[in-house]
Amino acid sequence: MIDPDKFTELKAGGDLPSPKGSALKVLELCQRDTVTLPEIIQVMQVDPVMVGRVLKLANSAAFGRPRPAVALTPDILMSVGIQSVRQVVLAFSLISGNRQGRCPGFDYEIFWSHSAATGVATQLLGAATRAAPPAELFTVGLLSNVGRLALAALYPERYGELLAQAGGQFSAALTALEMEEFGHSHLDIAAAMMRDWGLPKLFTDAVLFHEAPELAHFDTESRSSRLVRCLHLGGRLADLCFMPEAERGREFRKLPPLAQALGIADGSLATLGDQMLHEWAGWCALLEIATHEVAPFSTLDMTPANDITVAVTQEILKHLCILVVDDDPTVCLLLQKFLTAAGHTVHVARDGREGLAQAVRYQPQLVITDLLMPRSDGFQLIQGLRQTELGRSIYIMVLSTVADEAQLAEAFDLGADDYITKPVEGKLLQARLRAATRIIRDQQELRHEHDELRRRLLELSIANQRAQDAALIDVLTGLHNRRYAMERLAQEWAETGRSGRPLSVLMLDIDHFKQVNDRHGHDVGDAVLRQFADTLRDFSRAQDVTCRIGGEEFLLIATDTALKGALLIAERIRVAVERQPLAANEVSLHLTVSIGVAERGISHANIDQLIKAADDALYRAKHRGRNRVGAAA
Ligand code: GH3
Ligand code: MG
Ligand code: MG
Repeated sequence: MIDPDKFTELKAGGDLPSPKGSALKVLELCQRDTVTLPEIIQVMQVDPVMVGRVLKLANSAAFGRPRPAVALTPDILMSVGIQSVRQVVLAFSLISGNRQGRCPGFDYEIFWSHSAATGVATQLLGAATRAAPPAELFTVGLLSNVGRLALAALYPERYGELLAQAGGQFSAALTALEMEEFGHSHLDIAAAMMRDWGLPKLFTDAVLFHEAPELAHFDTESRSSRLVRCLHLGGRLADLCFMPEAERGREFRKLPPLAQALGIADGSLATLGDQMLHEWAGWCALLEIATHEVAPFSTLDMTPANDITVAVTQEILKHLCILVVDDDPTVCLLLQKFLTAAGHTVHVARDGREGLAQAVRYQPQLVITDLLMPRSDGFQLIQGLRQTELGRSIYIMVLSTVADEAQLAEAFDLGADDYITKPVEGKLLQARLRAATRIIRDQQELRHEHDELRRRLLELSIANQRAQDAALIDVLTGLHNRRYAMERLAQEWAETGRSGRPLSVLMLDIDHFKQVNDRHGHDVGDAVLRQFADTLRDFSRAQDVTCRIGGEEFLLIATDTALKGALLIAERIRVAVERQPLAANEVSLHLTVSIGVAERGISHANIDQLIKAADDALYRAKHRGRNRVGAAA
C-alpha cells in the first residue's frame, strides 16, 4: 500500500485524476446526511448528459426493469441507490476530465474503452453471484485500473518509457515494472484514491487484489472473495476484446474454471460474454469512447486441440511453429516439405505484410523470411515484428539469394537473428534449426523465470500492504485502530483548517458493558463487540471513518459534517443498537450505547481538545442515564 504521507503529497501536487464540475456538486450533495432525493435530482438535471448516463445504468439488464426508465425520478434513484449514484457520477466525471493526457504511448481512448468493458463484465458476473449491488459492480469495474491513469498523469514521461518497455498498456509485465520504478503499483494508488473518495474497503480491496485474487486469502465464501474474483474475471473478459482473434480463443478457453468457481456454468460464460459485448457497445456510444467490432464469444472454438501454445509446451520444442515468408512459391514449397517432414508446423506467407498478419495469428517461434519481395519486403516484416512485444521474442532467420553483405547487415540491424543462403541445403538448415531451437528454449525458460519474478514482486507488494493494514486495523472488529484514528484525525484536521469545511467526531461507549463480561464471559463480550462494530459500519455513511480506540470505546470521524448532521448519525446509530438484539453463543442481549458529539470550533486549538469535548459530552450522556446522545457544549 502506498504510504499515507506519500499519497497526501501526490494529491497536493494536483495531478491526480479527480472529479470536477457538476459531478463534484452531486458528490457533495449525496454525502450530506439531510439531503432529499428531489434535491439530488435537481442538481443532476443541470447536466443532462449525466442524467442520460445514470438512466442507462438504471436500465441495464442487471436491474431487470420491466419497462425502461425515461426520466430521473425519486423511485429510479432509490432503486439504483444513493451511494451507487454517487460512485457512478464520480466515475463518469473522471472519464470526461481524462479523455486525453500527456503520457506518450498511453492510449486514453482504449483505456476507457477497456475500463467500460470491465465495468459491464463485472456487473454481469456480479449480478449472477450477488457480490454487490449492480451499479456498484459497474463502477468498481470501471475504476479498477484508474491507478494506471494516475501514474500516467503523475509521471507522464517515465510512465511512457515504462509502457514502451512492457510492450503496451495491457502487458502483464507492467505492474511489476511500476513497482520497480515507483515503489508502488497502479493497484496501490487506485486503492488509495478510492479510499480517499470514500469508497468502502470492500471495493478498495477488490481493486487491490484483482490481478491476483488467490493472493488475497479471503474466506472463499465471503463477499470480498466473490467480489475480487468477479472483478478479476471481468478484467480478463475485457482483455479478450482487445486481442487478436487467435489469441482470444486460446485465452477464453482458460476462463471456464474461474466462472465455475463463481457458480457460472461453462456454457453460460459465452452467453454472458456476448451480452457483455452488446452492453459494452451501448456504453461506449453513450460515453463517447472508442469501440470496435468483436466477434461473438459463442463463435469461438472451445476445443483445445488446435491450441498451438499447449502443443508446444507439451512437446518441448522438438516441434516448432514456423512461418515461412517468400514470394517464390518453389522456395516456400521446398521449405514447407522439408520442415513438415521434420515434424514442425509450417505456415506460409507471400510478402512482409501477409507475414505480419500470419505472425499475429499463429504466433510462430521461428520466422524464416526472404528479404526482397514485391509490395512489402522482409525488412519491413522484421521491423514490424520487433516493434511488438509478441514479435520481439520470435527468432528470425533471413533467406538471402546472394551473400549480399550490405543487405544482411541491414537485416541484422533491424533485429534478424541468423541467416541462411539460397538455394537452401538440407543438412545446413537442420544444423541452423538446432541452434535456433536451443536459443528459443532458453528464451522461453527466461520468460518463465520472469513470470516467476513478477509474481514474487506482486506477492511482496501484497505482503507489504497486509503488514501496513495490520498495523492500522483492530484485529477483533476489523475497524480502524486507535493509531489510525489519530493519524487520520490529524489529516482531516489539517485539511479542514485549510478549506474551512466542517469536521465532527462521535465518541461512542457501550453502556454497562462490564456486566456482559461478568454474566456471560469474555467470549460473549468479544462477540458483542464485533456485532457492535458491524452495526456501526452499517449505520454510518461511506465517508465516515469508524474506529475502535479502546476496549468498548469507539470513535467515528465525520468528515465534512457539521454538528447537526453528526447528531443525526449518532441518533441513527443509537436507535439501531437499541433495536437490534445482539446474538452471541445462543444468548440474545439488549444493549444500548451512549454517544458524545463535538464539532470542531474556534475554541478547539488541537485534536486533543476536540476529542476531549466529545468525551465530556459522552460523560454527561452517561450521567443523564445512558442510551442517549449528547452534544458538546
Ligand atoms: P458504562 O456504561 O459506564 O460505560 O459501563 P461499562 O461497564 O461499559 O464501563 P467500564 O469502562 O467500567 O467497563 C468496560 C469493560 O469492558 C471493562 C472490560 O472488562 C471490558 N473490556 C475491555 N476490552 C475488552 C475486550 O477486548 N473484550 C471484552 N470481552 N471485554 C473488554
Ligand atoms: Mg461502557
Ligand atoms: Mg468504557
